Amino acid sequence: MSNLLKKSGWPGDRPLNSEEYQTLVKWNECLHSFSRLDPLVTVLDFATAVDLLHTTTRETTFQPESPGEAPIQIMGLLEAGGNHYDALWALGMHDENWPPTPRPNPLIPVVIQRLHNLPRSSAARELQYAQALTSRLLDSADDIIFSYPQRDGDRALRPSPLLQALVKTTPSEQEITIPLSVWENHQGSAPINELNDNYGPRLTSINLKGGASFFKDQSACPFRGYALHRLRADAPKTPTPGISPRIRGTLLHYALELIWKTLENSCRLHQTCDNDLTQLIDRSLQTATQKLLQYRNIEPCPLKLELQVLKLWLQEWMKLEASRPQFSVLCLEKTCELQVGELLVNLKIDRIDQSHQHKGNILIDYKSSDNSRPAQWIGPRPEEPQMLLYAAKLKSSVCGLAYGVINRDHSEFRGLARDDNILPNVGVDLKNFDFSSWEILIQQWSHELEQLAGEIQSGAATITPARGKLTCRYCPLSLLCRIDCNGELDTNLDHE
Ligand code: SF4
Repeated sequence: MSNLLKKSGWPGDRPLNSEEYQTLVKWNECLHSFSRLDPLVTVLDFATAVDLLHTTTRETTFQPESPGEAPIQIMGLLEAGGNHYDALWALGMHDENWPPTPRPNPLIPVVIQRLHNLPRSSAARELQYAQALTSRLLDSADDIIFSYPQRDGDRALRPSPLLQALVKTTPSEQEITIPLSVWENHQGSAPINELNDNYGPRLTSINLKGGASFFKDQSACPFRGYALHRLRADAPKTPTPGISPRIRGTLLHYALELIWKTLENSCRLHQTCDNDLTQLIDRSLQTATQKLLQYRNIEPCPLKLELQVLKLWLQEWMKLEASRPQFSVLCLEKTCELQVGELLVNLKIDRIDQSHQHKGNILIDYKSSDNSRPAQWIGPRPEEPQMLLYAAKLKSSVCGLAYGVINRDHSEFRGLARDDNILPNVGVDLKNFDFSSWEILIQQWSHELEQLAGEIQSGAATITPARGKLTCRYCPLSLLCRIDCNGELDTNLDHE
């Protein structure tokens, strides 16, 4: 290394000044330390050798001696204690730093270190040392400041408990304000271009990836729709213990599909005795489980419990089905394509029944959660446009839409229909929902869907949550859209 530097002309022939000379001496010491690695390593390639030498120099403390008395000296706490100064400022005196945490030497047994009261060997020894040093610092100058940072990243810090006896002062805002003049001058002279980033690039394909969920997210908030489906900016899923709601829902869907593939209509359901129905439910759940296990690993114990619970839910559900006016099941888990505006959307409809009495089709979407209600289909920017898309697919043949809610507390249909009593508790309900006729409602839905399709296609990404704070509450994207940067969620949206 020395030869290489000499050949490249360093440090040169001219006489060195004091600082340069001290630096050269320190450099030679570093080279000497580096050469002590000889017994430990065999042959080093040049890059590794430079890397090691770099590490050695980085770990070497060096400050050239000042020719005279320096007005300000920066030093460690240990060096500072015991001298006398005009003024002293001790920094970093927070509770996590002072007294220092013990850090016993890993190569010496801790018992021996504590027995001999070695530095960093125990909390008691560090406390004693910090108390002694603090009192020495207090005697080192007439004018002394101890300060501490208030935060380290997200963690709030407090002053060291050893400083409790001292007078606490808070610097005025003026004292801690950093002059911004350079930045302000720079900003004042720079031209500022304002960019409207409410729109991303327009969709180039008419085949919509994301299907009904893109409509749902776009309707809730254009930014959410754009970020989740165009930027793929989803948050990591939170693992849940036991069977997740998603797996439970899948098992229910599979089992109901198998049950109705066998029964086909309400007549066959009425002809099936309780015992046979229970066996059919059992068989369907078993087959559904095998299908699920082909692509999911599920712990056997919670799965067994879950199947027992689902069996009870399905028994209740089939009682409700038996109370319906006559019907036939037309389709189960039907995949289809729908054109909305200029977009082609892929859909999967859980079930379509034909009502014998009302001469029309009923759309049914199973839900194991309790949050789904027909109010979510009404008004501008509907919360759940999925059923509206299904209705748009069936057009005038649809006479009713309903969620089939199957869970621990409920086994019921929740929906809207052209006529009363199409399903238990599902009818016209003009009282609660403001629409003049079924046909007009279907038209309104088509209009809403076309508007959403247009937005999606144009790349609309405005940060306008449809129901303000409520829409944002469980959205995983608040860090990305930064709606809460100015506390907007707590103020502007409070009326929600
Ligand atoms: S947090 Fe609110 S504003 Fe931000 S993307 Fe989600 S819904 Fe939109």
